[in-house]
Amino acid sequence: MNSNIKVAVAGASGRMGREVVKMVLDDPTLQLVAAVDRSNEGKDIAKLIGYDECGVLVSSELDAVLLQSKADVLVDFTTPHSVMANSRIAIANRVRPVIGTTGFTPDDIEELDKLCRENGIGGIIAPNFSIGAILMMKFAAQAAKYMPHVEIIEYHGDQKLDAPSGTSIKTAELIAANREEFRQGNPNETETIEGARGGLYNGFRIHSVRLPGVFAQQEVIFGGHGQTLKIRHDSYERAGYMPGVNIAVKKVMELQGIVYGFEHFID
Ligand code: NAP
Repeated sequence: MNSNIKVAVAGASGRMGREVVKMVLDDPTLQLVAAVDRSNEGKDIAKLIGYDECGVLVSSELDAVLLQSKADVLVDFTTPHSVMANSRIAIANRVRPVIGTTGFTPDDIEELDKLCRENGIGGIIAPNFSIGAILMMKFAAQAAKYMPHVEIIEYHGDQKLDAPSGTSIKTAELIAANREEFRQGNPNETETIEGARGGLYNGFRIHSVRLPGVFAQQEVIFGGHGQTLKIRHDSYERAGYMPGVNIAVKKVMELQGIVYGFEHFID
């Protein structure tokens, strides 16, 4: 077996982390060397996902396991509160971060880019690893050139910590790059209930729906003279993100500094 990239997973016993562990164990070119999580410490991570034991035990000591395992890459699906500290530790150990955790600010991204460059390694931050979602963002960016009046509605489960979603922010950034900034709608508009018009980004609105039963969806709605255009993406299960994570784990080995957004890997 040609196991040439050593992968550590942070948030390994979480919902996304378990899918990453499966993806790594299923790919003979990847080797799972560490599983980090605050929950399930000491348990064999493969057994936890219903696979045969693999000998990698869940640990909460990121620094120690990265040093010991000589990981090449750390895939992080933890929480917006943990991810920066995890990434600083990874980079200090010259372990390349592949980050799916959302909630990043432009300053965070700049800091990690600087740290990666200082340490001579690459990193990837992708608010969405789903190839369909990336196409939705690319199509939206293209439509904004011709239909600059736009609103985004994103839908997630009610336990999501950050709003708006990382995907909607990334979509808004791509739209803004193709649309001259202007404030949409009636300048005399008032909100009788605070927040009714959603969050304002670059003159257009982002609305976050949080409900039990919802997984992850987004609509980008463009309005023009006598017409609307809706671009919609629906995610139904976490496994759908894994082909993207797999590509990122391999691509990150060739990078210097942070690449923000999985769209950079899709022509
Ligand atoms: P989850 O089920 O809550 O899993 C997060 C896991 O991380 C939990 O097991 C948590 O442990 C653990 N954790 C928290 N802090 C940690 C730390 N410092 N070190 C190690 N482990 C830590 O959440 P999820 O649904 O998997 O989502 C994780 C993140 O991925 C979220 O930010 C979500 O928005 C994002 N996401 C991204 C994509 C994408 O394509 N980029 C797709 C889906 C989700 P405890 O339970 O003990 O706190």
